[in-house]
Amino acid sequence: MTTKSHPTNTDTFAPLASILRGTLILPDDDAYDDTRAVYNGMIDKRPAAIVRCCDAADVIACVSFARDAGLTVSVRGGGHNAGGLGVWDGALVIDLSQMRAVDVDPATSTVRVQGGCTWRDVDHATGPFGLSVPCGIVSTTGVGGLTLGGGIGYLARQAGLTIDNLLSADVVLADGTQVTAGPKSHPDLFWALRGGGGNFGVVTSFTFQAHPVSTVLAGPVLYDLADTATVLRWYRETLPQLPREVNGWFGVLTIPGGAPFPEELWGRKACAIVWCYTGDPARAEEVLAPLRGFGAPLMDGLMEMPLSMMNAAFDALYPAGMQWYWRADFIGEISDQAIAVHEKFAAALPTPGSTMHLYPIDGAVHDVAQTDSAFAYRTAGWAAVIVGVDPDPAMASKLREWAVAYQEALHPTALDGAYINFMMDEGHDRVRASYGPNYDRLATVKAVYDPDNFFHVNQNIAPSPNPVLDVRASKQSARS
Ligand SMILES: Cc1cc2nc3c(=O)[nH]c(=O)nc-3n(C[C@H](O)[C@H](O)[C@H](O)COP(=O)(O)OP(=O)(O)OC[C@H]3O[C@@H](n4cnc5c(N)ncnc54)[C@H](O)[C@@H]3O)c2cc1C
Repeated sequence: MTTKSHPTNTDTFAPLASILRGTLILPDDDAYDDTRAVYNGMIDKRPAAIVRCCDAADVIACVSFARDAGLTVSVRGGGHNAGGLGVWDGALVIDLSQMRAVDVDPATSTVRVQGGCTWRDVDHATGPFGLSVPCGIVSTTGVGGLTLGGGIGYLARQAGLTIDNLLSADVVLADGTQVTAGPKSHPDLFWALRGGGGNFGVVTSFTFQAHPVSTVLAGPVLYDLADTATVLRWYRETLPQLPREVNGWFGVLTIPGGAPFPEELWGRKACAIVWCYTGDPARAEEVLAPLRGFGAPLMDGLMEMPLSMMNAAFDALYPAGMQWYWRADFIGEISDQAIAVHEKFAAALPTPGSTMHLYPIDGAVHDVAQTDSAFAYRTAGWAAVIVGVDPDPAMASKLREWAVAYQEALHPTALDGAYINFMMDEGHDRVRASYGPNYDRLATVKAVYDPDNFFHVNQNIAPSPNPVLDVRASKQSARS
């Protein structure tokens, strides 16, 4: 799709400003720099304009204006994307961060969440009802991007990915119309939204199925870095055998300096399993005892707490604005060759914030067939993420070199694709690999709902009409 040069003056955007309820921010405005900043401090994009939308009408106005003006749009939810895809040079940013309402229906355990919410907003609203929606492990992350990519977190083994709990979504399409996508209304769009990222439109609200989970027994068990191979060999055998109410992700890290960690461990490199038991609290100690009893931990940090507290446990360690370089892979089996790679690169963590995590793709995630949603790696065992992190911009190249070398060494032991929400820009072939057999159907749905690739600031799926997979009929019948 071609775009015109980047207008930046007030006159150009005056017609848009006149119909907004939200706020238009231009490069000369005081709020511009704060508003264009995203979570990853490595990203420094200069949009033509940013609209802080108040409602779906504002979103529709932005889409229609940008389309008529030939402007690129980017869509910003929580702003956490690895590659900073919520903002873009010269684009009109559709900023949803003021659209943060959450409505809980305790009678049906369903939750309606506006498109700019963070998971902290959702946890805040559902907590008093004893309910939780499967989300990620940092509560400042946006609902929008995390959900549209899949959504991996502590409830994944028990209740599936976030998308497995999505009941419907209200979407502003590239033609400026709004539709509700669900199993019976625009089913192909609903299929594509569940893993296909921001390719198909702007989701102004999501409706989720929540689960009766509130108190959990959770926290890290830390081991000496020298035990990495032993712990990983035990973990790869043990995790898949555990009841679904037990989740545990593996990580290599530097022990943070501060509570609850004992001072003698501060700054020490270590490996860890971060457990979270979400089942009957009365059985928590019994179920977790054999896991906590393994090996010779440096520290057992498990404690009883609300799940919302566990979902926010890492927030303070990772404030907005740090430098982040990301690499990722889906892992089938944690091979001995992979374990040797983890040992090598864990010993060389470049900064205290840098880390590697292996999140289980397991249990309820496997209950959904590979082609039943756009998220294709249903039979993977783990999603690996390697992140070089530091507050100092001068460290950027060091973070990058470590993460790239680590992933290049690990990749021969991994599957082809990666979780799109853990990727920066690795090119189109990698996006295609990450959707595997679902890519062609995604391209066909894209051709129906966004034939000009209007929404292209994302892990992009190129529209490709396909007579065999044509879903135009389903779009038309859903509209009639
Ligand atoms: C500290 C940290 C921890 C994380 N932990 C996890 C985790 O535990 N599990 C997990 O699955 N992922 C995790 N992630 C990855 C996360 O899922 C992605 O970064 C995701 O893109 C963030 O979504 P966002 O809305 O905050 O991002 P944004 O940067 O706002 O948007 C990301 C992409 O999604 C699109 N988008 C966002 N909202 C909408 C919307 N409403 N409608 C249409 N398109 C939209 C944007 O256009 C963009 O392409 C983590 C990320 C960070 C930085």
